[in-house]
Amino acid sequence: MKAHAGPAEIARVCERIESLGFKPHIIPGEQRTAIGITGNNSPIDPADFEDLPGVAEAIRVSKPYKLVSRETKRENTAVTVNGVRVGCGDLVLCGGPCSVESRDQILECAHAVKAAGAQLLRGGAYKPRTSPYSFQGLGEAGLRYLAEAREATGLGIVTEAIDVETFDLVESYADCVQIGARNMQNFSLLRRAGRSRKPILLKRGMSSTLEEFLMAAEYILADGNYNVILCERGVRTFADHTRNTLDLSVVPAVQSLSHLPIIVDPSHGTGKRDKVLPMALAALAAGAAGLIVEVHPNPEKALSDGYQSLDPAQFAELAEDCRAISALLTSRRRVPVLAN
Ligand code: PEP
Ligand code: MN
Repeated sequence: MKAHAGPAEIARVCERIESLGFKPHIIPGEQRTAIGITGNNSPIDPADFEDLPGVAEAIRVSKPYKLVSRETKRENTAVTVNGVRVGCGDLVLCGGPCSVESRDQILECAHAVKAAGAQLLRGGAYKPRTSPYSFQGLGEAGLRYLAEAREATGLGIVTEAIDVETFDLVESYADCVQIGARNMQNFSLLRRAGRSRKPILLKRGMSSTLEEFLMAAEYILADGNYNVILCERGVRTFADHTRNTLDLSVVPAVQSLSHLPIIVDPSHGTGKRDKVLPMALAALAAGAAGLIVEVHPNPEKALSDGYQSLDPAQFAELAEDCRAISALLTSRRRVPVLAN
């Protein structure tokens, strides 16, 4: 739409789309609103829309992912999580344990990451574990402790939903619902996330291509949830010096193909505590909108992912270094980041 197009003009375009039997998707932007069209099985004639008032141009999206594509929306999308804008050019740090283990543990963690300058708190209450005998998470009690931690610190909560059955519950507590790597192609879960009003953090599957990653995000947008944050968390390769190979080149690759923000998880991306800081800095240098990092008050005693978790002092150091890198990049940015 043209920059000055108002609600009536947008509504008129949506009516035209619906009258043709298709689905309109209103995606607001800083300067102009994009309206995506899905539900067509064959190409649509741009002339059907170009004559409507307020329409700037009608574009055929060439990529298989439509709503996620930068062809649909040129400006970056900033996703707001509990008042924090992810993807607007400011550094966003999310820290916290792999799993919520107890009330004391998550409160201690929340205070520590807050003191270090993080804006968001992570912590799983439902854990996707390789072994059925490993700690599976505290379930609803974990969600309640997370809510208490939010109350105590003001930090927004990012927590994972591992299935459709528990999605409602997770959604009712979370500020942002994580879909983990193992579920990136769980299509019923993606569709449920698409019907959610909460932002979604979609982690890249451990063997997924960029196109599969963006198509997974497309499922969520196609069902009406346009608030998706992508997350690179490492992929499986032959390399065995790390748990996964953090594919930082996917950050600029995503940015050229999609308007959605992308953050990086250097914890799962390396699986090793001493590799987290360097890869966190590299991720920001590569253009990531933020980081999600595992932090535990006592990593040696963690019930999951202790070997890749930082202690609070290490996280504080990481946060400080990240702010330095981020300030340098911001000061050298020639074009301001435009995001809704
Ligand atoms: C996690 O965030 O703890 C997690 C299980 O991540 P991933 O899905 O990336 O393995
Ligand atoms: Mn973990």
